[in-house]
Parts: sequence; structure tokens; C-alpha cells
Amino acid sequence: MKKVSYDLIVIGSGPGGYSAAVRAGQYGLKTALIEKQPRLGGTCLLVGCIPTKSLLHSAEVWQHFLHAEENGIACQNPVLNYPKIIERKNQIVGRHSKGVEGLLRKNKVEWIKGYATLRGGGQIEVRGESGVRTVEARNIILATGSEARMLPGLEPDPDVILTNIEILNLTAVPKSLAIIGAGAVGVEFASMFNRFGTQVTLLEMLPRIVPVEDEEVSKELERVFRKAGIRVETGARVENIRRTDGGAQLALTTSNGKQEEIQAEKLLVAVGRKPNTENIGLENTRVELDRGFVKVNPYQQTAEPGVDAIGDIVAGTPQLAHVATMEGMVAVAHAAGKPATPINRNRIPGCTYTEPGIGSVGLTEAQARAKGYQVKVGKFPFGGNSRASILGSHGGFVKVVADETFNEILGVHIIGPEGFELIAEAVAAMEAEATLDTLTSTIHAHPTLYEAVGEGFNAVRGLAINA
Ligand code: NAD
Repeated sequence: MKKVSYDLIVIGSGPGGYSAAVRAGQYGLKTALIEKQPRLGGTCLLVGCIPTKSLLHSAEVWQHFLHAEENGIACQNPVLNYPKIIERKNQIVGRHSKGVEGLLRKNKVEWIKGYATLRGGGQIEVRGESGVRTVEARNIILATGSEARMLPGLEPDPDVILTNIEILNLTAVPKSLAIIGAGAVGVEFASMFNRFGTQVTLLEMLPRIVPVEDEEVSKELERVFRKAGIRVETGARVENIRRTDGGAQLALTTSNGKQEEIQAEKLLVAVGRKPNTENIGLENTRVELDRGFVKVNPYQQTAEPGVDAIGDIVAGTPQLAHVATMEGMVAVAHAAGKPATPINRNRIPGCTYTEPGIGSVGLTEAQARAKGYQVKVGKFPFGGNSRASILGSHGGFVKVVADETFNEILGVHIIGPEGFELIAEAVAAMEAEATLDTLTSTIHAHPTLYEAVGEGFNAVRGLAINA
């Protein structure tokens, strides 16, 4: 059979991969996207960001009903229909997956169904239902993503030992849930199931939860979690995990050396994700790896000419959908000979959809001090924000880390209502290299939550009005 040649082929249809393919189509490149799953969208759309945020939204709505009285609304005996919540989530995922298919069609990107293996020299072997074929391209973008890491000796199953995938399709709200790992996955599911009424135990080996966040953010989330009834154990050692008749059992050694057995109906393992760089033919190329992650230059190029990598498989950038997408834009623009601006690793927003929500960008206070900046911190509590009170959510704060010498914004850390949305202003401000002076003279509409961000900038000079 004659080999089909493309200008550009993307392997993997997550947010990084499909966006890169769409952009290549927009640039007029003859483009194909290879995906082995029957549906497009990758981890983020099918079993990650989108389904979890749908379930988290349902948990929030449920809480509104439980606390309706506070708003002067009588709502007796509300009923939680969990299968319906799952069905809604599935509909949202299905609709958006079809949407990705439509985007590929609109931009003349061909979807090649099957499993791709690099053969070197721009050749890719695709194993699909209709057999094996070889395609070739001048540019190849690897966007194969990642999968949940398991603890040694453990195998996930649909009933008890769960990863981010199995936990999305439970048929009922579990009575109890133990979670190993308090990164984004762990805390989001802790927040979700706590609000659905599950007894949640959150086990983290490091001294604090959400360890990548500013220390004060970790402390505030832990305080709110404990108040909401979540058992939080940091500095925890978990051993001897096994299935029992009633679920899972594990041996916990707490930070002060106390030992106990924990029993839970379900166990979620959320200890990070490993890159999908095995069995894709990298050995047939010069692509270099660092502990399984692909090494790239600022334009996402690997050591193999014509092969780029983006997203969760890339060494040195966080495994976030929006990072993958922007890396895809950089790779495609560079491959197409268009202006390409490498991503600035210090301007990547982190968003965690707990209650309260977290949004952060740039350096934490500790990181800024370690780098030798003349650090000045401003903090504004949501308790002083009228919109937060109206929404019934006045916990948390905006923390701005600035450099006194040049009035530069080094980092912004928000925990509070819609913290994951509010961070957008700080990201844009930092990208535009706005100084404290610009931000303190920026008008923030009233009454809004983002007034708290404006107050945070003023707080650096001790000039916040409402605190
Ligand atoms: P993670 O690496 O963010 O967190 C894993 C946590 O598990 C860490 O805090 C680690 O110290 C802890 N841990 C590891 N081994 C442990 C053990 N044996 N016992 C106790 N604790 C242990 O990983 P994740 O939460 O699984 O998320 C995976 C990736 O997906 C991350 O990059 C994350 O940022 C991303 N993600 C992002 C979002 C979001 O942006 N809202 C949501 C989910 C996932």
C-alpha cells in the first residue's frame, strides 16, 4: 500500500494533542491525529479535569440544598440521586468529545484510529482495527499523556482500589473513603466526597497537603478540611494495603509514630502520574528521556529532528492540561515557521477545585525568599469582601508576593471562593509584567470577588481598605 505523507502528525488527542492538531489545520498544514481510544479528548476530557469538575459542581449544588435554610429557603429532605449525577457527568464528557471530533473535521485534520509506534525517520506504524499501516510526516508531535502511578504490589479494580478512572463511575456514594496522596487529585476527591456525605480520610506522606502550593494555602485548606470533618494525616506512612470483605484495610503510622489499622469502603490511590513514554517506539529515535520524561528545548523539540513533545510526557513542566495546550501552540507555530514564544515556566497558573478553591501563579513566599528577592507580602482576607459574604463563602485570602526593589509581582496565591477563576487577573498581569503601581491603580468593579485581588495588591504596601 502507498504510504500517506503528512506535514504534521500528532499522537494523542488530549487537550495538548487535539489543540495542536487544530492549530496545524488552521495554519494550512496537512495534518493527522492518531488516537487509540474510541473517543477523543484524552485523560483531561474523558477521565480527568472535566468529569471531576462536573461531579464537584454537583457536590456544590447538593451543599446549596443542604444549606438552603440559611438563604431563607425551606428545602425539606432533599434527595441525592448519585446515578443521575454520574449520568450528567457522562453527558458532558460525551458532548465535548463529539465537539473535539467536530473541531478536527472543521480544520481538516484526519483522525487515524489506532496505536502509534515510531519507526524512525518520520515513519509511524499504526495498529488499528483494520490492520497495520504506516504513515509518515515531516513533523511529529508526541502528546501521549500519562497514567496514574500505583503503589508497589497494588492493582486498581473497579470496586475497591481506585484510581482517578474507577472513582468516576461508582454507583453510589461510599460510606467511607481513604485517599493516599494529597496532591490535586487527592484533595479534589476529598472535598467532593466529604460534601456528598462520605467519611473521608486523607493520607499524605509530606508534612503538608497540596505541597506545591504556598505554605499558608496548605495550612488554610487543611484547617477548612478538618472543620468540614475530613480526617487529615500529614507525615503519614501507609503500608500493608489489602482488600477485605468490607473494602480496603491499611496500616497507618502517623507523624507522631502512632500505629493504627484503617478500614474504608473504598481506597483512592492519588500518588502522581507516570508519563506514557514506553512502547511508543522511542528506541527507534534519538529522543532522550529523563526518568521516563521526554527532554525538550524551549520550542518543544526533542533530540530527534522533526519530533516534538508536549504535555504530561515532557520533563520539567507540571502535568496540567493548559500547559500541554500552550506547549502544543509553541511546537506547531515553530514547526510551521510562525512566530513562537516559548512558555515561561514561572507564569503557569495552578487551579485546584476544592471548597475553598485554590488558584496560584509564580513563586511562593518561601521560593521568593530562597531566590534572594527583597520580599514583601500582602494578604487580604475574603472576610473583608462583600461579594464573598453574599455568596456565603468568606474564608480564605489573597496573598501577593512582591519584590520591594522593583515593585515586581513574583507570585499570587489565592484560596477562597472561585480562587481558581480569580487567579486569571494575576496571570495576565504577570505575563504583561505589570508592576504593583499598575495593579493598585486598576479599577476593580464592586461588588465582585476579584476586588479581593486588587486589595491583595494594595495590601503589599499596607494600603488595603477593607481589612
Ligand atoms: P501529585 O504529584 O500532585 O500529588 C501526589 C501526592 O501524593 C503528593 O503530595 C505526594 O507527596 C503524595 N504521595 C506519594 N506517595 C505517597 C505515599 N506512598 N503515601 C502518601 N502520600 C504519597 O499527583 P496527583 O494528585 O495524583 O495528580 C497528578 C497530576 O495531575 C499532577 O500533576 C496534578 O497537578 C495534576 N492534576 C491537576 C488538577 C488540577 O489542576 N485541578 C487536578 C488533578 C490532577
